[in-house]
Amino acid sequence: MPTREAEARIRKSMMCRGCWEVLHLRIFIRGPLSIPFRLRGISTSEMHPNTCTLCEKRFKGIMKSAQIRQPLTILFADLRNYTSLSTTVEPQEMSHLLGEFYEACAEAIWARDGIINKVIGDAVLALFNFPFRRDSHVLNAVEAAIELQATCKERGIDIGVGVHTGETLIGEVGGYLRDFTVIGPVVNLAARLQGAAAAGEILITDEVRNEVGDRFSDAQERTLELKGIAEPVRAYAIKVPDAEASGESTPVAQP
Ligand SMILES: [Zn+2]
Repeated sequence: MPTREAEARIRKSMMCRGCWEVLHLRIFIRGPLSIPFRLRGISTSEMHPNTCTLCEKRFKGIMKSAQIRQPLTILFADLRNYTSLSTTVEPQEMSHLLGEFYEACAEAIWARDGIINKVIGDAVLALFNFPFRRDSHVLNAVEAAIELQATCKERGIDIGVGVHTGETLIGEVGGYLRDFTVIGPVVNLAARLQGAAAAGEILITDEVRNEVGDRFSDAQERTLELKGIAEPVRAYAIKVPDAEASGESTPVAQP
């Protein structure tokens, strides 16, 4: 995954923050103190630049044993019209486009302590609240989605995003497949929501909206019939300001 630029923007720690926060272990991943760890094959992980390959192993172990139940926020994003684009656009241009998309995902997600769990073709699955536990994980995910959409709009890349939160068996996330019905309900709903989002849109569930309070009171309510989900789902579409309208300088009227 081409994420060099995104890495450059993250405040990098010398010690693995995952190992420190979860186990109070001091694992050095940068600087001279990291040399003995490197010699043992421990280095930074692609999940997040402030985690290490030990975290990755631990994470995969938990995924397999599927025993930890925890509130997680799931963010799904995918590139729209990927299939039709790939028939009309040069392969080089296509991979450039994908690269920019991954880059934008990494920037927005890592900056808010989320991790990139899977990249499957034109889709990215990110988790918030594991391994970095954050009280604000729901809001972090929504803000990441907004930044991601804004960046993609600016670069002329059409993507759809879905965000859902709930108690999740962590192992369920590891079993992510294109056939979403085989995975847990929280991940499944996030994936379906992303599928229903139009280009440029972020769809969130009631559960997400309840957590982020009134911040997105202008979100447009929608009732969706989603494939593989029996009941209609109430969702909210968050408006993402256009690139030119998102400038921070609002003119202030002089008296
Ligand atoms: Zn670690």
